[in-house]
Amino acid sequence: MGVVVAIDGGSGVGKSTLSKALAGHLGLDHLDTGAMYRAVTHAVLEAGVDPTNGEAVTELAQRVIIHVGAQVFVDGDDATEAIRGPEVTAAVSAVAAHPGVRAELVARQRAWVAERRGGVVEGRDIGTVVCPDADLKIYLVADEAVRAARRAADEARVDHAEVASDLARRDQADSTRRHDPLRMADGALEVDTSHHSVDELVELVLDQLPGGNPRA
Ligand code: C5P
Repeated sequence: MGVVVAIDGGSGVGKSTLSKALAGHLGLDHLDTGAMYRAVTHAVLEAGVDPTNGEAVTELAQRVIIHVGAQVFVDGDDATEAIRGPEVTAAVSAVAAHPGVRAELVARQRAWVAERRGGVVEGRDIGTVVCPDADLKIYLVADEAVRAARRAADEARVDHAEVASDLARRDQADSTRRHDPLRMADGALEVDTSHHSVDELVELVLDQLPGGNPRA
């Protein structure tokens, strides 16, 4: 196995930006596992399935064909924009709470890493469940106001207070769910992204790689 970097944290802490930059510097592929949970949620809503119905949602998760890259395809249809929309964002934590959905997506995520012999994987349970043996585990945090401002910019929304309350609701659901809640993995390095540029964060993380910073 090559290098595996696990990046976890709540919404708006800068996971995707840092993960993509790191993957570029290390010449590795990047997997956004949040996009996979969003893709399943999109399929659930399109099929008219109740997101709280664990059995029906799990059955759908097991057969849906997902491609997650620069674009996201769900059963062959381009869902890149739809998975970031308010309907999916409102339902995704309920879908992600079902153990059958998690088992299916965790298996697909591990297969993705094994096929490539490494990669930068971002999500909520990467260091704790998906890749507990990762070479490097990072747990990102950021100030509330910074997170809300980032998410508002991502989603082109103006009401920061509303974005902040959506974030708090999703964090609460993701951190308190019974199966694989969001938490810092053993051996993870906590990094606060609030007041650093992406380049500074990349350097900071590369310095922590076992074997040293490949750019130094
Ligand atoms: O990262 P993003 O905000 O797109 O993730 C969407 C949702 O997917 C999270 O709120 C969480 O409920 C779920 N998720 C998860 N485990 C992961 C990644 C995301 O439960 N590894």
